[in-house]
Amino acid sequence: MAMRGEKMQSEVLGVLQQNLAPLTAYDVLEQLRGFYPKLAPPTIYNALSALTKRGQVHRLESLKAYIACQCDQHSHASIMAICDACGKVEERVASDDLLKTVSSHVDEVGFKPIRHIIEIHGVCASCSSDQGPEMGAMERELLQ
Ligand SMILES: [Zn+2]
Ligand SMILES: [Zn+2]
Repeated sequence: MAMRGEKMQSEVLGVLQQNLAPLTAYDVLEQLRGFYPKLAPPTIYNALSALTKRGQVHRLESLKAYIACQCDQHSHASIMAICDACGKVEERVASDDLLKTVSSHVDEVGFKPIRHIIEIHGVCASCSSDQGPEMGAMERELLQ
């Protein structure tokens, strides 16, 4: 049983690693059903939750979707830059300083942070360079 669980976790991780954009549990299920026709949602949820606990996969709360960790092992919070144009997500590990700064805003009211979730929506570098002349003009202005 444990072995089956681990096998499924590596299958799920494999699917997520092949995608730059996050996938919902349902997307993962759909992709794996081709190989495992009897696969049920709880199996996927269990695998995703085990992978998330180990930091190999991160859940994007604002999208209710999952992405494979792009950084080497880290016990830290990440900064997720989510491109709203192509759906690609870029992960950076959040620095201690940043987390301290964020926490300081709630420390004042006696709040004790346990977990930070930092997700930034926007447009990635390749999507913003594909845009029309308006964006180009703006970028030129910024460079001056
Ligand atoms: Zn990560
Ligand atoms: Zn993009």
